[in-house]
Amino acid sequence: MKLDVNALRYLSKDDFRVLTAVEMGMRNHEIVPSELIDRIAGLKHGGTYKVLRNLLKNKLVHHEATKYDGFRLTYLGYDFLAIKTLVNRGVFASVGRQIGVGKESDIFEVATEDGTVLAMKLHRLGRTSFRAVKSKRDYLAHRRSFNWLYLSRLAALKEFAFMKALGEHGFPVPTAVDCNRHCVIMSLVQGYPLVQVKELQNPDDVFDTILGLVIRLAEHGLIHCDFNEFNIMIGDDEEVTMIDFPQMVSVSHRNAQMFFDRDIECIYKFFKKRFHLSSEKCEEQDGSEINDDENGRPSFLSVQKSDGSLDKELAASGFTRKEQVEMDKYIHENAEEESSDDDDSTSEQDSEDGDEATVKISSLKIADQDSAGAPDHTLRGRDSNQPETSSEEVVRGTQLSE
Ligand code: ADP
Ligand code: MG
Repeated sequence: MKLDVNALRYLSKDDFRVLTAVEMGMRNHEIVPSELIDRIAGLKHGGTYKVLRNLLKNKLVHHEATKYDGFRLTYLGYDFLAIKTLVNRGVFASVGRQIGVGKESDIFEVATEDGTVLAMKLHRLGRTSFRAVKSKRDYLAHRRSFNWLYLSRLAALKEFAFMKALGEHGFPVPTAVDCNRHCVIMSLVQGYPLVQVKELQNPDDVFDTILGLVIRLAEHGLIHCDFNEFNIMIGDDEEVTMIDFPQMVSVSHRNAQMFFDRDIECIYKFFKKRFHLSSEKCEEQDGSEINDDENGRPSFLSVQKSDGSLDKELAASGFTRKEQVEMDKYIHENAEEESSDDDDSTSEQDSEDGDEATVKISSLKIADQDSAGAPDHTLRGRDSNQPETSSEEVVRGTQLSE
């Protein structure tokens, strides 16, 4: 997806005010009625409508007039709200090239005022499911497209919390810097995803390190669940960094053993194929403290899950059980549904390599307007079991404080 931050420089305080109003309205509306946006934004003399036209021109909002006249945020609009907030906070000052496109994320380089380059991951849960699910089950498509803001924000929050906790426990992960909405800022890993590495000096050592990580994670109560050659980065000295944590589960998950075995299987399979690791190495009984199962592989049941309990710590750190369940359901259900259809279907998501030059956006600080709309680390997705709040309630509860 093209992220033209240049546009961001020309957006005024009022533009951001209205964009934030659309975001607030989306807590209760898939398409936010124009008049509600106007009421939340509270601009004088019908200013909101003029601003909305400008936002539409810049593809920050999407217009719909089928049932009633209204707008919703686009990914770009949501990106800008997060970027603006983080820039205002002084977390970074410019956005550079795109360095990764995951199935459900876009990764960019960003730079701080003093020139330190960091990685910015924008989560895009729900992106790939629009078309795939729409064609199969229309009612779900509706609900899910409604929830993409919530799910993406939840994924970012979870990833940030896990990255931070893992780093604090000595795991080789990027340093978690900050998080806002669907956006995680972390240190830039120097290296390449294992999938791009054609040759290793010490494949045996790297293999052992990687397997050791899966085991140590389980000892800490966690399973990565997507531990493969795309989510393992290899540095110049063949040091290993693991990335990508939104799908991690606790060892007490009912499918824990299956997830653990699958992670282990991915590593075995890849090393056998790519680095021709001998079957002895792959099957060896190396006398480690982990008793191997009949295939000679680390077995879930023999991992001592007593080294602290990160899973419980994390469960207590901000995710309610319900949120966890909702997201896990989404992630694990969609892994299957989406493998057959990788298409984006919303018009604003042109898949393009973002090769644009670094754009300085520190000037944004001048147009200061804190987005009171989405307090950080606060999840307010729509609960489908609860009745919708009325527009009046939204207006009263979320008036912009300026
Ligand atoms: P997804 O959840 O979409 O798979 P990932 O977190 O795995 O996203 O990131 C996708 C790609 O972006 C990775 O394979 C890697 O190439 C790159 N990437 C992600 N995080 C970093 C980072 N901190 N430093 C450098 N590259 C990164
Ligand atoms: Mg990944």
